[in-house]
Amino acid sequence: MTTPSAAPELERERPGLVSFVLAALRELYGLPEWQPRRPPTDELVLTILSQHTSDLNAERAFDELARRYPDWDAVVRAPVESVASAIVSGGLAQQKAPRIQGVLRRIHEERGDYALDFLGTMEPRAARDWLVRLDGVGPKTASVVLLFCFGLPLMPVDTHVHRVTTRIGLIPVGAPADRAHDLALDVFPRDRMYEAHVNLITHGRRTCSARNPACGRCPVAPRCRYVDPGAP
Ligand code: SF4
Repeated sequence: MTTPSAAPELERERPGLVSFVLAALRELYGLPEWQPRRPPTDELVLTILSQHTSDLNAERAFDELARRYPDWDAVVRAPVESVASAIVSGGLAQQKAPRIQGVLRRIHEERGDYALDFLGTMEPRAARDWLVRLDGVGPKTASVVLLFCFGLPLMPVDTHVHRVTTRIGLIPVGAPADRAHDLALDVFPRDRMYEAHVNLITHGRRTCSARNPACGRCPVAPRCRYVDPGAP
């Protein structure tokens, strides 16, 4: 079954809304510049480690993993308890250790090594589909890897992106996070996906917080449906 795209309806009903929101956020937070971060396999493992914990804890767990094992092959061959002990600072180590080993094992089985660079040449949704077939990798984790490592136009929908976009009325209220990953791709221009992602997260952290959104000083307020359900 094909899923209807949200963007044409949105554009018909609320012309220029996406441009307005992106311009307002750019004015407030600047234009984030994309730069590749880690190798994609490292980013994938780090993103799995960051599930249900802070970035700082995930970084600590990743650094300890890198300190104890010389390469991904050594991680795969290690006893699962040893891997769990290395990543304990990232929380949920008993779940994440077998998940990381399983993901790495599967990549090696399919590709003959642990490299994921081939994903950077794929069509974005196909690359995301490739990753989400791996146990423990959802659309958010896959989108993080592909957006941050390759600049592929995918939108990781975390709690901030989900909250801000639904409040404004860019994503329908009640749309589950998994579905929001596709809806967001229909809403934001491909060439501004990274900017949109980074500035929506910043907005969620600094202004549009979960409990007390600072609508009084928010430049998006004139068109935000959280403020006015009938906003244009
Ligand atoms: S007006 Fe309020 S609810 Fe809307 S985006 Fe701004 S802070 Fe969030």
